[in-house]
Amino acid sequence: MNAIEQAAQAIRQSSYTVAFTGAGISAESGIPPFRGEKGIWNRYDPKVLELSYFYAHPEVSWQAIREIFYDFFGKAKPNAAHLALAQLEAAGYLKSIITQNIDNLHQEAGSSRIFEFHGNSHTLVCTRCHAHYRIGEISLEVLPPLCTKCGALLKPNFVFFEEGIPEQAYAGSVEASENAQVMVVVGTTGEVYPAATMVSIAKQHGAKIIEINLESSAFTHRYTDIFIGGKAGEVLPQLVKEVMGT
Ligand SMILES: [Zn+2]
Repeated sequence: MNAIEQAAQAIRQSSYTVAFTGAGISAESGIPPFRGEKGIWNRYDPKVLELSYFYAHPEVSWQAIREIFYDFFGKAKPNAAHLALAQLEAAGYLKSIITQNIDNLHQEAGSSRIFEFHGNSHTLVCTRCHAHYRIGEISLEVLPPLCTKCGALLKPNFVFFEEGIPEQAYAGSVEASENAQVMVVVGTTGEVYPAATMVSIAKQHGAKIIEINLESSAFTHRYTDIFIGGKAGEVLPQLVKEVMGT
């Protein structure tokens, strides 16, 4: 059996499969990673996403945020990898997705049980009254955008530096990792904490770890049972086909 066949068999035999996704799954939708040579932090100063800087200089921060997350990311569409995971959920083989991405592409692909470890860029939240707004409800022509209910500063509803992981997403991710019989790790190399600990939690609770990455990662030798090298947009559709036996 090759790695894809082994992975498909593990998924078919599992009654609780969870996917854990990172920047690599969205790279094929044109969303660059934050880190590394071609990363966003080579072009922008990461301090624009530090909470203290954001409160002190909301207009400067928001200008960068609008460019990065709304003018540019806003146009990204889900790719074959996102669609394959949605298909796996629809067929009853996938319980949930834990994602480190904030791009909303799993939702747009049709997945419904998603724990967003780092929040979501498609909603804004009021820093005073905590009202939520969908992007599009609020104009970003004049910066910074303000709450229409109380007039206070709005912040994208994703996790900034110096900010904790949203409680519900964290609790849900830990629970899913503990219950997982199979965890499919896609496009994430295990460098961002505490997100990366979800893989070790799953492993400690007996899950089989399937890893789909371009190259081996921090997970590969410590946790991974089945490694499939390649692009998520090519490997995942093949894997889903194999699971479905089509
Ligand atoms: Zn408000």
